[in-house]
Amino acid sequence: MGAQERKRQKKIKEYVINRDGMICCYCDKPLTPETITMEHIVPDSRRGTFNTTNLTVSCSEHNNKRGNKPFFDYCKQFHWSDDKLEKYKRLYFNNLKIKVLNIAKEECLPKAVNGDEQAVPSDLIQRACKVLKIKGMDFGPYENMYQFEIKFAELSDRKRIELCVEQLIRIIEADSE
Ligand SMILES: [Zn+2]
Repeated sequence: MGAQERKRQKKIKEYVINRDGMICCYCDKPLTPETITMEHIVPDSRRGTFNTTNLTVSCSEHNNKRGNKPFFDYCKQFHWSDDKLEKYKRLYFNNLKIKVLNIAKEECLPKAVNGDEQAVPSDLIQRACKVLKIKGMDFGPYENMYQFEIKFAELSDRKRIELCVEQLIRIIEADSE
């Protein structure tokens, strides 16, 4: 891991601790800088990413006990409130959206030819969903809620789509705070 990646991970860690507090997400046990562990919602081993929408904090006991079990199965035994469950579902779906957008950017963009002026062309999204083997993903609410500040006429199609995708990712990240 390079210095830049270490810096990125440190920033993300601080952000997540600030958002979720110094308590285990499962058992609510208070944690210290020595006992805190970063918990992946989608495990590392299942292509889970190290970013704010896929991380929370837990004690090492529950981190170890959970292992690779699905997050939303494992948490059932802790009788979370509806609000708490809703918070993690929102993070999970926002993380999935960001993955779809990143795949659209990396795998589909070179093939994109022409687009109309919608924020992110829906055929790109569909192709990305296929790569992730999910049915589909609706970005409509974000695209309607926010104005995209891009001067379309001055840019190539490729650059325009790339900027739309990046902007949408930032909006989704802000929605997870
Ligand atoms: Zn715990």
